[in-house]
Amino acid sequence: MWFACATSKGDVEALKCRWKSITHHECNEHEWTDDNGEQHRCDHAPLTAQEKKNRMWMRKYSMAFQDLSSLVLDKRLLRDMEKMALFKHTGPLEVFHSALLKYLPKRQAFSFQGMKERCHLAFLEHNENIVKRKQDTTKTGQARFNQVFSKRSKQWVLKKIFTPHTTQFIDTLIKRVMDRRRNPNIQFTLPISSLAMPQPALPPNITPVPKPSKEAATTSFQSRF
Ligand SMILES: [Zn+2]
Repeated sequence: MWFACATSKGDVEALKCRWKSITHHECNEHEWTDDNGEQHRCDHAPLTAQEKKNRMWMRKYSMAFQDLSSLVLDKRLLRDMEKMALFKHTGPLEVFHSALLKYLPKRQAFSFQGMKERCHLAFLEHNENIVKRKQDTTKTGQARFNQVFSKRSKQWVLKKIFTPHTTQFIDTLIKRVMDRRRNPNIQFTLPISSLAMPQPALPPNITPVPKPSKEAATTSFQSRF
C-alpha cells in the first residue's frame, strides 16, 4: 500500500492499478490483461527461475487467494484509497504543531496581533528546519546515517541523520530590526505580509449578559450573608 501510494504521484487510477496488482503478483503472474483488455506488468525486474522457486506463491482461485482478493478489491477500501493518491501523511503537521506550541503556549492568552506574529515565528522556524532541512554530511562530504534496529522488520536499517535544528531566522530578524533602527530609510518587503488578515470584530467577552457594576455586585454579595 505504501509503495502504491508513494509512486502514484496523484494519479488515482495508477494507484488503484498498482494496489490491485497484488492479486496477480502473489500468484507468480507478473504480466496480465485486465477486464478492459489493457496490458499490465509488475514494476520489479523480471524474476530469475531461482527467485521464483525460492518464494511461496499463492494458487489462483484457492481459498487463500479468494480471501486476499476480497480484502484487496474491497470497494470501500478502493474508494478510501483515492484520498491517498497524493501520499501526504501527518508527520510534518505534528512537528509543526509542536513548533507552534513553543511560540504559542496554550496556558497563556495572547492578543490577536500577538497570536498572529507568534504564528509567523513558528512558520519561520518550521520552514528553516523542516521544509529546507537537508541530510547531514561528514567532513569529507559523505551522507550521514544512523544504524537502528527495526522491531517490525527485525533487521538493522539505515536512518538519515539530518542537519542540526537551527533558529538562524531569529538572528536575521534581530539584525534587520537593528539595521532599520539605525537607518529608517531601509524598506523591507516581507514575503509573509501576503498572510496579512484583518482583525476580526470580536466581542470584549463571551458572556451572554452584561457585567453588573462593581457596587451592585458587592451589595448583592454582602446581602447573601
Ligand atoms: Zn510481480
